[in-house]
Amino acid sequence: MEDLLPPESVVRLNDPESGLRGFIVIHSTVLGPAAGGCRLWQYADEAAASIDALRLASGMTMKNALAGLPLGGGKAVLMLPAAPFSRTRLFDAFGRAVANLGGSYLTAEDVGTSVDDMALVRSQTSHVAGLPRRPDHPGGDPSPWTARGVFGAMQVAVKRRLGRCLDGLTVAVQGVGHVGFALCELLHAAGAKLVIAECRSDLAARAATRFGADLVSSRAIAEVPSDVFAPCALGGVLNLVTAASLRARVVCGPANNQLAAPEVGDLLAARGVLYAPDYLVNAGGIINVAGEYLSWTEGEVSTRVDGVAARLAEVLDAAERDGVTPEHAAARVAYAVIERGGSAPAKRWLAA
Ligand code: NAD
Repeated sequence: MEDLLPPESVVRLNDPESGLRGFIVIHSTVLGPAAGGCRLWQYADEAAASIDALRLASGMTMKNALAGLPLGGGKAVLMLPAAPFSRTRLFDAFGRAVANLGGSYLTAEDVGTSVDDMALVRSQTSHVAGLPRRPDHPGGDPSPWTARGVFGAMQVAVKRRLGRCLDGLTVAVQGVGHVGFALCELLHAAGAKLVIAECRSDLAARAATRFGADLVSSRAIAEVPSDVFAPCALGGVLNLVTAASLRARVVCGPANNQLAAPEVGDLLAARGVLYAPDYLVNAGGIINVAGEYLSWTEGEVSTRVDGVAARLAEVLDAAERDGVTPEHAAARVAYAVIERGGSAPAKRWLAA
């Protein structure tokens, strides 16, 4: 997605004692505290980490607006230390950095981080969610909620493009980590056949056994014969090459920033592929995070997560009506919400 709103601030993290290196990007606080998870991943250098943080943070602004949450967008990206390190010291140091922002950034888990890591962050700041769950309260690992939202959205997308339900369809899934595995559970129960690519052989084997899934390589997953492609790993999987060879007619999955460039969305549309915008369909986790932070009931979280499917249906209607891609229609809705919150750049985009 093209980023039209500049970030409000970027904080560089560098604490040699704990090994903490990375960035916190506060992309927008127009609608509320900048909320978005903390990713711990291997990056070639600081430039690569900062680019990822900027893209992910801007996606969070759009996601939170589209989901109707009273939250802005932000993200933390931490560079996985090359040498052995103490997670306690690393996440203590990260927690202090979050505390220094005084509530303008709200963190939670993302790729490479867990509920236990967030409990460490909690020892330094209250501006963290995704903490160990208390009975009858939202909280804990947001991934099952993300999977539930994606599943509902996929049912809508499949009905639209293929005129049927998921039973008997083949879904190609890239990545069976936290969200991917939970999504496979739902797809398997709904009668879908699964083809899976996963770089961790232990996870791949577990999924193959549990779901009777075929395993393929990461390079092949986008072009295996399938009805639906569900990206559940990292961003950028759909570029002009993979989008041109994609066999599925629906793309719907939780991975953030699936389109390597905005024109990939146009190519998918031209090829008759229905692309369900990632930042719309993967909002379930942040809805649960918001519920935990803002003390909603679990019932409220469930209702809002189930609303993801209805929101996709509205966006697809608008895209058809206005002759634009679903990505563009989703951006329009998100910018309209941000503009109502008082953002001048969003207002200019809508007027253009
Ligand atoms: P995860 O780290 O638990 O799982 C990702 C999995 O993808 C890992 O098992 C990894 O080995 C695998 N993988 C990485 N690169 C791959 C490749 N090229 N081919 C095949 N497998 C590959 O992360 P997660 O929490 O499940 O998140 C998955 C995606 O969904 C991420 O893009 C994340 O930002 C996004 N997302 C997650 C949530 C959430 O609630 N966890 C919410 C919104 C969006």
